Amino acid sequence: MRSIYKRPEDIAAMVPAGELTRKALDAVEAAIRSGITTLELDAIAEETVRAGGGIPNFALVPGYRHTVCASVNDAVVHGIPNRRPLEPGDLVSIDAGAKLGGWNGDSARTFLVPGGSPERIAEATRLSDVTKASMWAGIAKLASAKHLSEVSGAIEDVIVAREDEDGLPLGILEEYAGHGIGRDMHEAPEILNYRTRGRGPVVKPGLCVCIEPMVTSGSEEVGEDLDGWTVRTLDGSLGAHWEHTVLVHRDGIWVSTAPEGGREGLAPFGVVPVLPAGA
Ligand code: MG
Ligand code: MG
Repeated sequence: MRSIYKRPEDIAAMVPAGELTRKALDAVEAAIRSGITTLELDAIAEETVRAGGGIPNFALVPGYRHTVCASVNDAVVHGIPNRRPLEPGDLVSIDAGAKLGGWNGDSARTFLVPGGSPERIAEATRLSDVTKASMWAGIAKLASAKHLSEVSGAIEDVIVAREDEDGLPLGILEEYAGHGIGRDMHEAPEILNYRTRGRGPVVKPGLCVCIEPMVTSGSEEVGEDLDGWTVRTLDGSLGAHWEHTVLVHRDGIWVSTAPEGGREGLAPFGVVPVLPAGA
């Protein structure tokens, strides 16, 4: 079995794949508006990945043929791009990845299509913000954690604190988790978004992982659509999903799918990203 810890030269080689994944999501973000379809967003992401010399790695997953997953409103993850025009107030999670030079990037962002009722905007913004905040707390924890369970705990703590603060529910998906990444998009280990017994694998140089909280504005109960992919809340509450690829190396951590290695997102935690040697 392949080690979950990569060699320094492998970590350096993963940086460009992360950058290309970020560019694909930047292009999607620039294009998102009311009236555009998620299939059109998928095409934009695919063009960006191919123009950068990469391969859409989601299309390498057996049975899937798109560049992104697009999960709208009560869909949380794994939504299939379709022809329905986005509407004001839609909450859209776009998950994208690129394979470049044999290595993978994987990242997701949640967008609110401008418009919608004030109540809708408040619910969607709260959910997306707390999901993103929990992701950054988990990523920052990688800079100091001894075991991966600390990362899971950091993610859960942010979500539970917000739930308590607001007196409103939030649900953390339990059947879906973050993962290792490298030559394959999905590798060991699994990174849950909540605390469990056990410390998990040691965090040390060579660990390359995707941190990806998936959170609802209601219950954590979800089900899969008949399409065999789309994961949707059972209570109709909204879902949000944020994800970054993070490289743990000898000199620090680098978020390969974020601008400047995640400088802005890590700043509140006093963590300064360091580019891996040789990248
Ligand atoms: Mg992803
Ligand atoms: Mg992932």
